[in-house]
Amino acid sequence: MIVRKSEAEIRRIAAAGTILADCLDMLAAAVTPGIRTLELDGMAEEFIRGHGGTPTFLGYRGFPGSICASPNDMVVHGIPGPYVVADGDILSIDVGVTLDGFVADSALTLPVGKVGADALRLLDVTRRSLEAGIGACRVGNRLGDVSHAVQEVVEAAGFAVVRSLVGHGVGREMHEEPQIPNYGPAGKGPRLAEGMVFAIEPMVNVGDHEVYVGADRWSIFSSDGSLSAHFEHTVALTTSGPRVLTRRTTEVMGGAAKALPGQ
Ligand code: MG
Ligand code: MG
Repeated sequence: MIVRKSEAEIRRIAAAGTILADCLDMLAAAVTPGIRTLELDGMAEEFIRGHGGTPTFLGYRGFPGSICASPNDMVVHGIPGPYVVADGDILSIDVGVTLDGFVADSALTLPVGKVGADALRLLDVTRRSLEAGIGACRVGNRLGDVSHAVQEVVEAAGFAVVRSLVGHGVGREMHEEPQIPNYGPAGKGPRLAEGMVFAIEPMVNVGDHEVYVGADRWSIFSSDGSLSAHFEHTVALTTSGPRVLTRRTTEVMGGAAKALPGQ
């Protein structure tokens, strides 16, 4: 069952989303060559708690961090640790914030210093695929329209959508129904309705879509070792269109994002 949220509940998710967006802005400014992902994790926890929230990931199924930090060919779920961020890396950071009983979930991938053209294109395409997915979050659409919109952008660019990991409903729980694949046919699946809140999160590999789980049982890598990016927003479906609840103030928005109502 897809739980629909009231306007008051969406406001509470948005309040968590504001802390989360500001946290990601803070982390983005801190990500420079030489910093360890464990330091970023500490900064995030301090920031979230300092703003009255709780880091949703910490302790979730035993996860030891407040953020996931996933460099280069790591797709998602990287445990913060001794890894030293290097010039030329891309680094995906995923954060969840719980506030007042509601969860917001958002991620981005950052270029560190001077990165290759392939990496920059991957980030651009993944970001655009997220915006395309958000654009399909319209009352009356089908869930498959969201999945298909993401897939189209990614595959038109020659990249691959990770298939074994999906977006999700979000609200009182971090992971609610429905699962939201980043691929699939348009016009299929549940009808989208007012009050649904989704975490849309394309994970995109430069090479093949296959992934594997690392030795720590958390981190997920691209099987072919190619670079991988991840962008995520928490989005509420309203009668006036999708409302992004985790939009960052520093976010560079393309044309599609500017066209979204409620921004
Ligand atoms: Mg996330
Ligand atoms: Mg998520």
